Amino acid sequence: MLSRKIAQSLLPLETPFYLYDMGLLRLTLESAVAMAARYGFVLHYAVKANYDPRVLKMIREFGLGADCASGGEVRCAIEAGFDPSKIVYAGVGKKDSEIRYAIEQGIFAINCESLEEISVVDRIASELGVKVRIALRVNPDIDPKTNHCIDTGQADSKFGISYEEILANAPLIQSYKNVEVRGMHLHIGSQIRELHVFEYLCNKVNVIVENLVGLGFTLDFVDVGGGLGINYDVPENEPVPNFASVFAIINSHLNVGGREVHFEFGRAIVGQCGELITRVLYNKTTATGRKLVIVDSSMTELIRPALYGSYHNIENITSDAQKSERYTIVGTACESTDKFDENVTLPETHRGDLLTIKSAGAYGQSMSSTYNLHPLPRSVYSDEL
Ligand SMILES: *Cc1c(COP(=O)(O)O)cnc(C)c1O
Repeated sequence: MLSRKIAQSLLPLETPFYLYDMGLLRLTLESAVAMAARYGFVLHYAVKANYDPRVLKMIREFGLGADCASGGEVRCAIEAGFDPSKIVYAGVGKKDSEIRYAIEQGIFAINCESLEEISVVDRIASELGVKVRIALRVNPDIDPKTNHCIDTGQADSKFGISYEEILANAPLIQSYKNVEVRGMHLHIGSQIRELHVFEYLCNKVNVIVENLVGLGFTLDFVDVGGGLGINYDVPENEPVPNFASVFAIINSHLNVGGREVHFEFGRAIVGQCGELITRVLYNKTTATGRKLVIVDSSMTELIRPALYGSYHNIENITSDAQKSERYTIVGTACESTDKFDENVTLPETHRGDLLTIKSAGAYGQSMSSTYNLHPLPRSVYSDEL
């Protein structure tokens, strides 16, 4: 990862901060865009993964659309210059004011997640005197074989409308005068590393689309969501995710006629380009003999380990000690779960050393909070150093 190469220039900076490798973000986008172009696939970026302004700007410059999960994200995407005609808005709990705002902006589609929501969108659209494009977010009941904190497409999940409910209510959905069902959407979960899951997804989508069309829906696009995982264990082995394989799988298994195929990746675009750089404050040993390294960041900067038990690879980028030790890396917050990792083998680590917590570009800074009145972490960009 970049931080080790430029550790000396990072040393004087105030910590903690997110370091963004803008060169790697560029490479990742070049790969995603080139591979998608082979098949004419349309790419959106899931804004919630990271909405740092420079990160968003580069993603927009590569021509991706924006997949938003709140009115605030729609606003953020518009302010970052995304064309409203390339913005989609999903989410189980859209407030009336958010729906109204999205409709007023003329976004590409609202991905509806309940029958009740469709009726609300219809009412607001009729108040505004417009017809709104929507997609039905279908719950396909698929196990994405990932951490179940982040699966979103199994039968009991809060996301999407059950397929059976759509089948049973097709005439009702078609009766609304101010909504037009133009697409079908699903997103089964995040950090999917077993790519055959995408094959299974295609088989389900093929059946769903065929049946919806049979019921009289005219679908122009099929949005198969995001979810492509990244290599957290050894990020150096796979700095750019394997877009080629996913697209090849989708291309050979998806059978939806000439309909546009959309993707909305978050983690795969930004996950590897961000690292959380943090400084060692103290060493201490517990009564049980566990060696703790206390760093100057916490779950307030990066909550994934505390929230999902997620693993991030950690490295000491400034120590050249020969001897190594096993450490538990803990943060400053007043919570026992505020721990970045256990049994981490690092060169002997001292106060003032810099650690990198790698693969933190997705759901890192965007999930940060001000708990304990910590300031929100700032961004440092590789091309501004
Ligand atoms: C979060 C989300 C995504 C992006 O997921 P990644 O795993 O980061 O690719 C895409 N679509 C929807 C609807 C989402 O909620």
